Amino acid sequence: MPLNLAQLLAQIKQNNPKADTTLVELAYEYAAQAHAGQTRRSGEPYIQHPLRTALTLAQIRAENDVVIAGLLHDVPEDTGRPLAEIEKQFGKKIAALVEGITKLSKVKYRGIERHTESLKKMFIAMAADIRVILIRFADRLHNLETLDALPENKRLRIAQETMEIYVPIAGLLGIWHFKNKMEDICFRYLHPEEYKKLQYRYEVEQRMENQAFIKKTEEILVPKLKEADLRFEIQGRFKSLYSIFQKMQKKERKFSEIYDVFALRVIVETVADCYKTIGVIHSLWKPKPNRFKDYIAVPKSNGYQALHTAVFGPNGKVTEFQVATRKMYEKSLYGIAAHWYYKSNKKYLSKQPKWVRDILELMRQAKNSEEFVNVAKIDVFQNRIFVFTPKGDVIDLPERSTPIDFAYAVHSDIGHHCVGAMINEKIGKLDTPLKSGDTVEIITEKNKKPSRDWLKIAKTARAREKIRQSLKTNGGFMKFIKWK
Ligand code: MN
Repeated sequence: MPLNLAQLLAQIKQNNPKADTTLVELAYEYAAQAHAGQTRRSGEPYIQHPLRTALTLAQIRAENDVVIAGLLHDVPEDTGRPLAEIEKQFGKKIAALVEGITKLSKVKYRGIERHTESLKKMFIAMAADIRVILIRFADRLHNLETLDALPENKRLRIAQETMEIYVPIAGLLGIWHFKNKMEDICFRYLHPEEYKKLQYRYEVEQRMENQAFIKKTEEILVPKLKEADLRFEIQGRFKSLYSIFQKMQKKERKFSEIYDVFALRVIVETVADCYKTIGVIHSLWKPKPNRFKDYIAVPKSNGYQALHTAVFGPNGKVTEFQVATRKMYEKSLYGIAAHWYYKSNKKYLSKQPKWVRDILELMRQAKNSEEFVNVAKIDVFQNRIFVFTPKGDVIDLPERSTPIDFAYAVHSDIGHHCVGAMINEKIGKLDTPLKSGDTVEIITEKNKKPSRDWLKIAKTARAREKIRQSLKTNGGFMKFIKWK
């Protein structure tokens, strides 16, 4: 079913009935015009893609600027319209977000595992703003959902890149909604056999049974909740296929051992309603001893809040209930609330690389997840740049590094013999400061040796050290020849 603007506007109004959607409508018109005549690989009009991206962002309650940037995110890259025009029409803030996305699209995984750490860093550094990452996730999610339209090699590349780069970052930032969805889709493409097997068991066998059971439970519960004057929504709870797959691999357990008991989630309006709902559930079915957990009074260390209970439900089947307010529920899905978890989990923290700890520290300092999402500029990597080799490896260097630093970072032999550099396919000098996103190719000559001048050009300790070593040996050698 094609999406339309009305659906997006409805979602924005649902989040905030007072929201002014004028600019959203203008952005839609602008994007539709810019992409007019373009189609996606699937054959649908291109505008469907930015529209879906924007809708996903509205669904996670992102602010309007972010939704608008979602509508415009492919305009500079895929149409003739320059960023300056977007800035003129929609202002600096939105243009900055769109620019962030365009930059971020340069970060590509090319199948070299040892570089994934640098790529993750680069992704975050280039984004520089959590909101840009959210837009990129929403964008990627739709690309994953329409992966079938792509040729197989491209499908695999995108799935692998998502798994190696996007998924860990989504996990790091605690954006479970995106993490789980992306993982499940990638799982399908990367492990098609296992996926099919699990999907059959889970979706066909279990889910059918599950749905019938949920329906039955609902038929009993709904009238009672209504009697108690509650406004509520009931959802069946499903585990992500990939998480089942992972557990089965880790623990070498069978599907039937991992599959959770039947679980339902009840979403209500207030905290008082949560307790009232538990009362209704316990009066209908006998609670299982020791299974009532009050994570509202005592939230989990990651900030998660809800009431949990398990009862002997219809047919005596053990049934789990999670009861929460809408706010609590949404926070658990979209909140960048993971910092509460890391804050209290020293052991987890000590195992992480320094850059991860720095980001988590940044998150910890934000007063709450909204503040973090809205204001956080990620300046952990402010003084690092990320430069590509011609093959697409990423080299992570301090700011103002030069091709000499780059050459030594790749290999000391390349450093020792470098005579020049191609920067973005143009001839550059050995002392040209590099920028993030540059592609650098070093030109070498067999007989070239480091000179003392290089010490003035090189910024990294590694390059300087190697140059000094080489000067010492070469210098000694020269003297030896002279005196002989
Ligand atoms: Mn896109």
